[in-house]
Amino acid sequence: MKIKLLGTGTSSGVPLLGCDCEVCTSKDPRDRRLRAVVMIEEKNTRVLIDCGPDIRQQLLNEPFRPFDGILLTHEHYDHVGGLDDLRAYCAFGPLHIYGEAYCVNHIRERMFYCFGDTKYPSAPSLELHEVKPLEPFQVGDLTIIPLRVMHGEMPIVGYRIGSFAYITDMKTLPQSSFEALQGVSTLVINGLRHRPHASHQTIEDAVDIVERLDVSHAWLTHIAHSAGLHARSCEYLPSHIQFGYDGLEFFV
Ligand SMILES: [Zn+2]
Ligand SMILES: [Zn+2]
Ligand SMILES: [Zn+2]
Repeated sequence: MKIKLLGTGTSSGVPLLGCDCEVCTSKDPRDRRLRAVVMIEEKNTRVLIDCGPDIRQQLLNEPFRPFDGILLTHEHYDHVGGLDDLRAYCAFGPLHIYGEAYCVNHIRERMFYCFGDTKYPSAPSLELHEVKPLEPFQVGDLTIIPLRVMHGEMPIVGYRIGSFAYITDMKTLPQSSFEALQGVSTLVINGLRHRPHASHQTIEDAVDIVERLDVSHAWLTHIAHSAGLHARSCEYLPSHIQFGYDGLEFFV
């Protein structure tokens, strides 16, 4: 299974508009972060997890092939704001969007012009599918397990696919999800910055959870400019935990 991080930035992206800090002005391409999205490919199956407002730019350099599913973690704009831009892929058929009930209901309300009697002729064709934590579902060759994650007070989901898991926008992890992550070898997990935030865990929290899960390799995502330079992160992170960066590919 091939995993490609198409975006690793927090909700504002990095550089932050109007900021002249050392990260936002860095010449290191790893310090330029589009909104968080991952693409997963296995045999003939291809899925995205989340579809933020940078998706058009993120997909311009990828082969134009169908997506079998778009898995949504939650309905915040930085995770769903690019769904309309997938309309070109409707040339292959409707797009199958997976998310929790409240999340897909938000999509139906916000993108009313894609559904029913009010469908605008050139709007994308979206088929919404509800998922529930710990209830596996199949997309092509992939068996996917949604996992409950707490985004501050807000319940959202992460996804486990085989020995890989993707978790973003997490503040805390319920015990049931901790148990469901046993056996995962490669994890992509959010680490916002060093200073605490009400609804996102810090980089230090991410290191703690990765060590407790005992995974062999973890990449951090949903990173803010205030996390500091990519180049400096290896000075304090354990060797099996690294900042992810846009364009990073690996196989699980
Ligand atoms: Zn987010
Ligand atoms: Zn900055
Ligand atoms: Zn969020």
